[in-house]
Amino acid sequence: MIPNTSAIALLPDHLISQIAAGEVVERPASIVKELVENAIDAGATQITIRLDQGGIARISIQDDGIGIEAEQLPLAVTRHATSKIASFEDLQGVGTFGFRGEALAAIASVAQMTIISRTLQATHATAIDNLQKGWGQAPSAGSIGTLIEVRNLFFSTPARRKFLKLETTELGHCIAAIDRQALAAPHIDFSVFHNGKLIRHYSATDQTQRITQVIGSEFFANSLPIDHQEVLSLQGRSSVPTAAKSRADSQYFFVNGRAVRDKLLSHALRMAYEDVLHGALQPNYCLFLAIDPHLVDVNVHPSKTEVRFRDSRLVHSFVVQAMRAALSHTAKAMSSPASVIGEITQSANTQLTSEINRPFLYTKLGQNPLFAQETSLPYLQFVQQALTPSQEYVGTPGSIDPASPSSSPAETRGAQPANPLPLGFAVAQIHGVYILAQNTTGLVIVDMHAAHERILYEQLKTALEGQQVESQSLLVPITATLNGESMEAAQSGQDALIALGFAFSIASDTQLVLRAVPRLLSDADPTQLLRDVLCEMAASGSTYVLENTRNQLLSTMACHAAVRANRTLTIPEMNALLRQMECTERADQCNHGRPTWIQFSMRELDHLFLRGR
Ligand code: ADP
Ligand code: MG
Repeated sequence: MIPNTSAIALLPDHLISQIAAGEVVERPASIVKELVENAIDAGATQITIRLDQGGIARISIQDDGIGIEAEQLPLAVTRHATSKIASFEDLQGVGTFGFRGEALAAIASVAQMTIISRTLQATHATAIDNLQKGWGQAPSAGSIGTLIEVRNLFFSTPARRKFLKLETTELGHCIAAIDRQALAAPHIDFSVFHNGKLIRHYSATDQTQRITQVIGSEFFANSLPIDHQEVLSLQGRSSVPTAAKSRADSQYFFVNGRAVRDKLLSHALRMAYEDVLHGALQPNYCLFLAIDPHLVDVNVHPSKTEVRFRDSRLVHSFVVQAMRAALSHTAKAMSSPASVIGEITQSANTQLTSEINRPFLYTKLGQNPLFAQETSLPYLQFVQQALTPSQEYVGTPGSIDPASPSSSPAETRGAQPANPLPLGFAVAQIHGVYILAQNTTGLVIVDMHAAHERILYEQLKTALEGQQVESQSLLVPITATLNGESMEAAQSGQDALIALGFAFSIASDTQLVLRAVPRLLSDADPTQLLRDVLCEMAASGSTYVLENTRNQLLSTMACHAAVRANRTLTIPEMNALLRQMECTERADQCNHGRPTWIQFSMRELDHLFLRGR
């Protein structure tokens, strides 16, 4: 129906609040979030949250913060009344969770609300409520701090009440909101009750412990510490790639302590993991970005879960860089290969997991004097002698007491100069899949396809950084018949393909003549390699190759060209692979995030065989 009058009138105050409530109060969890934020802003050290029926029937939040003075109580529930900012300058550098001064008013417009508050100076607490029309105020019993109780959400707006989900769903959202706040404020003690039962308690602690309390010890054990400080600072924990899941259940990102959902940031995370993670897998993370408040606008959305960065490119590249730096050092941290061993050794009833010592990889050729020139045979023999078990490990049964560190192989190794060949020497290949090698620590098992794939991928990336991958002409050009999509990709993506090391000419609508392939991949079946790449290009729909799609292509190429299972390798070939792994960054995981090798120390092997007991 079209109104027959065009007179403009100011909306009544209560209606404005209800409209605002549409944005601020979506469900019980949004109320919990706002009230907990207020408690944190008030300097609380202890927050108790009581929920009934998923928060729909009752949300009560008690804090021990600074309280609200009796005369100020009516203002607290008035729209656009805040104690947190007073000027535009304050808004620019806001350091509190709240600043809009609308949460209490908005909540009170869609639910029954009682506030009981007492400041340090006050002789007693004061209560205010909207149970009757308007706000009634009266003296009350109560400790220092504030208790806010919200009942019967949307009681006066049945239409909105209908949108609420089952009690358990709403409770889940409430807990998720509390968890986010708890992660941001580890120094605060949080207790959560549902229908009278204590369901969460996070005692006051430090950041690291709080992450374990909230996300769990499994995440913690399978995560890397992130601590990167430059112009900005990024701290927290993030999954080791091998622990990534198909469904990410814990992805937390905080900007100056505020939990945010931000496309830019999640994209940065995806990019950082892209090299070490299969596309379908997701890392879990809990990350805290600290940035000058003047460089970020938090006043983007009423619920304040979105932010806008003044220099979004800077933030994006900083996060990518910080994460990549951490991920390229996964060898130094515990990662899944170690936990695999952990499970095995645990079943042998040992406590070795914490002692697992992964050799240092990634010694760049140029940085290691031993690799400065081509490794010569006499040198290899010398090293091999130095690594013979008789010198390193006197393996008579029972001669080593696992409990005595002084006689442990690790100790012996400690006295030696840096381990020259961390992955040791190949001794055998089993079932055409794994290489067994012996190093100073013990036994190394390598997944040869995964390892080779990784090496090729990193080599291709390095080659492409020099603008163009070197190509190798085929002795005899090959005519390949392709489908329409692939032909189209070949035509429109010709420049990209040249950069990748291919050379070809188009012979007809369905055929092209392949003349050269990337030199690094010259062992692969050339036609199949080209087919795979074209297929990938057609699927991604991009004719020019951006960084994301480019790496995806390189990964496809590497996977295609890597040694297949069931190919017999000679011992020198296997050793060559080990040496290449040692000088390849991120050789720890294949492009799909699986481990490429694992280490069993002699002590772990002894424990598996219950030796020395
Ligand atoms: P904002 O947090 O944006 O200022 P709110 O509507 O959430 O707006 O709160 C209004 C004001 O009420 C706050 O600025 C603060 O002064 C006061 N207040 C709200 N909750 C508390 C609390 N738990 N302890 C002390 N003061 C509070
Ligand atoms: Mg607030």
